[in-house]
Amino acid sequence: MNNQYDIAIIGTGAGGGTLLHALAPTGKRILVLERGGYVPREKDNWSTKAVNLDGKYNTKEVWRDRDGAALHPHTNYYVGGNTKFYGAALFRLRREDFGEIKHHGGVSPAWPIGYEDLEPYYTQAERLYQVHGERGVDPTDPPAGSPYPHPPVSHEPRIQQLSDDLARLGLRPFHVPLGVMLDEKNPVTSRCIRCDTCDGHPCLVSAKADAQVVCVDPALAYPNVTLVTGAYVSRLETNPSGRAVTRLIVERNGGSEAYSADIVVVSAGAINSAALLLRSASDKHPRGLANGSDVVGRFYMGHVNSVLMALSKCPNPTLFQKTLALNDFYFGSPEWEYPMGHISFVGKLDAQTLRAGAPAIAPNWTLDLMAKHSLDFWLTSEDLPDPDNRVTLDRDGQIVLAYQPNNEEAHRRLIAKLESVMKQQTKCRIHGHDCHEGLFARNLFLGQRIPLAGVAHQNGTVRFGHDPRSSALDPHCKAYELDNLYVVDASFFPSSAAVNPALTIMANALRVGEHLKERLR
Ligand SMILES: Cc1cc2nc3c(=O)[nH]c(=O)nc-3n(C[C@H](O)[C@H](O)[C@H](O)COP(=O)(O)OP(=O)(O)OC[C@H]3O[C@@H](n4cnc5c(N)ncnc54)[C@H](O)[C@@H]3O)c2cc1C
Ligand code: SF4
Repeated sequence: MNNQYDIAIIGTGAGGGTLLHALAPTGKRILVLERGGYVPREKDNWSTKAVNLDGKYNTKEVWRDRDGAALHPHTNYYVGGNTKFYGAALFRLRREDFGEIKHHGGVSPAWPIGYEDLEPYYTQAERLYQVHGERGVDPTDPPAGSPYPHPPVSHEPRIQQLSDDLARLGLRPFHVPLGVMLDEKNPVTSRCIRCDTCDGHPCLVSAKADAQVVCVDPALAYPNVTLVTGAYVSRLETNPSGRAVTRLIVERNGGSEAYSADIVVVSAGAINSAALLLRSASDKHPRGLANGSDVVGRFYMGHVNSVLMALSKCPNPTLFQKTLALNDFYFGSPEWEYPMGHISFVGKLDAQTLRAGAPAIAPNWTLDLMAKHSLDFWLTSEDLPDPDNRVTLDRDGQIVLAYQPNNEEAHRRLIAKLESVMKQQTKCRIHGHDCHEGLFARNLFLGQRIPLAGVAHQNGTVRFGHDPRSSALDPHCKAYELDNLYVVDASFFPSSAAVNPALTIMANALRVGEHLKERLR
């Protein structure tokens, strides 16, 4: 077997899968190495017990926290990466997120590129991932080159009622931009059936615009593309000068294989990409590959996230709940000058999901009753980059994730804002005002906040920037210290903003793809 390629891409998620889509038509020999296989298509895809309670599709890998305690990461290794499981809420960062922003908890640094540099690629990514949305309602919406390719996903009646209530209070709720292949005008032929097991689940009918469905599978139609699954890249080796990656060492089927490529793109997810570079330390790169700056693995960000359930006497029979969002407090409020963050929804919670970690917050309410009467909010505040929040490896090569939360006052205030807004909902015609009893904090796992193991929004560990002393990647996401190494997953983020990250990873992969096409011409 000839193991020499023009390009090797490691990982098939939002970054790697999208880059593959961009490069497949070039005719270049492309090798794609993915540690996972395909998500099996089976009824359990849509079982909340299998997915949320049993964690059937999560990796069984064990990492460690800074104190050495076992960490069971909520992450997934499959073709399509974590997009197989994502809620497909595909937001652009706000234009201001690309500049420096002062937060109560510190500074969110500027990116080396501006919003305008990424805008055309956001437009392309929205087309590719079939985003359904509406522009111009959200006051923080950045300018866009064209409308969304598909109309917004409608609210179900309970969510529409909430949207009307919020609007009556002078707020500007809007439809979440969503990458689901829903055609509400033609329900008989619509690929998406609008079900209640989308967020966190793989789509059994392949109607979620994930990286496997919209990028990897179509790319495999090109004869120049080779996908190798079950291929765990354990190490990257360089030439004697240390300036170029020459060999990719892969563990597969219990043995070791070696591949090489003129250009190597790492896209293993922010934590695994940092771990791979650190594992690839050598005489020329003693602190880890491309890590003369000592930033690789540092500045890990997740997002400051909470799930909050608003319980009321009114039932909430919504199936697809993740249609409404609110950014009115994203940059602050008249009473508080600092950014607070973003309010939206998780997929509708049910009793099985609550069983995975609901504290006894509502005496006399069974989990089933709670789930039937809750609005399940997802709150995001910005996680600020801290060099001591980092990925390292222990003596056995296991991943260690050290993390100290930050910017918590912003998050507390965001929660308080939502509580106060919810208390002002209009009178319910059936139960009166006390129908909307207020908010009960709950967490899918522990306590109130999403815990460290909830690494869904991981980013920042191989940041890009103008200065090689403080960033590992240049503005094209090429490693400063190597001529043929790129990173295109969420590692490159210098700041995390407070909206979901996937569309930005996809748009950036298309941008880097354009650069690579030029380079390979
Ligand atoms: C439940 C859930 C819901 C989410 N909802 C949303 C949402 O609604 N909106 C949003 O924007 N984001 C959402 N996210 C986050 C989003 O999925 C991620 O931001 C995105 O997938 C990250 O893309 P990536 O390319 O950085 O990494 P990934 O998508 O994780 O891809 C990394 C790939 O690399 C492979 N890999 C790892 N290590 C190796 C190795 N050593 N060798 C070979 N292959 C390797 C992995 O198997 C994987 O396929 C959600 C995530 C989860 C888990
Ligand atoms: S059918 Fe639609 S709503 Fe259900 S999982 Fe698939 S994409 Fe999501």
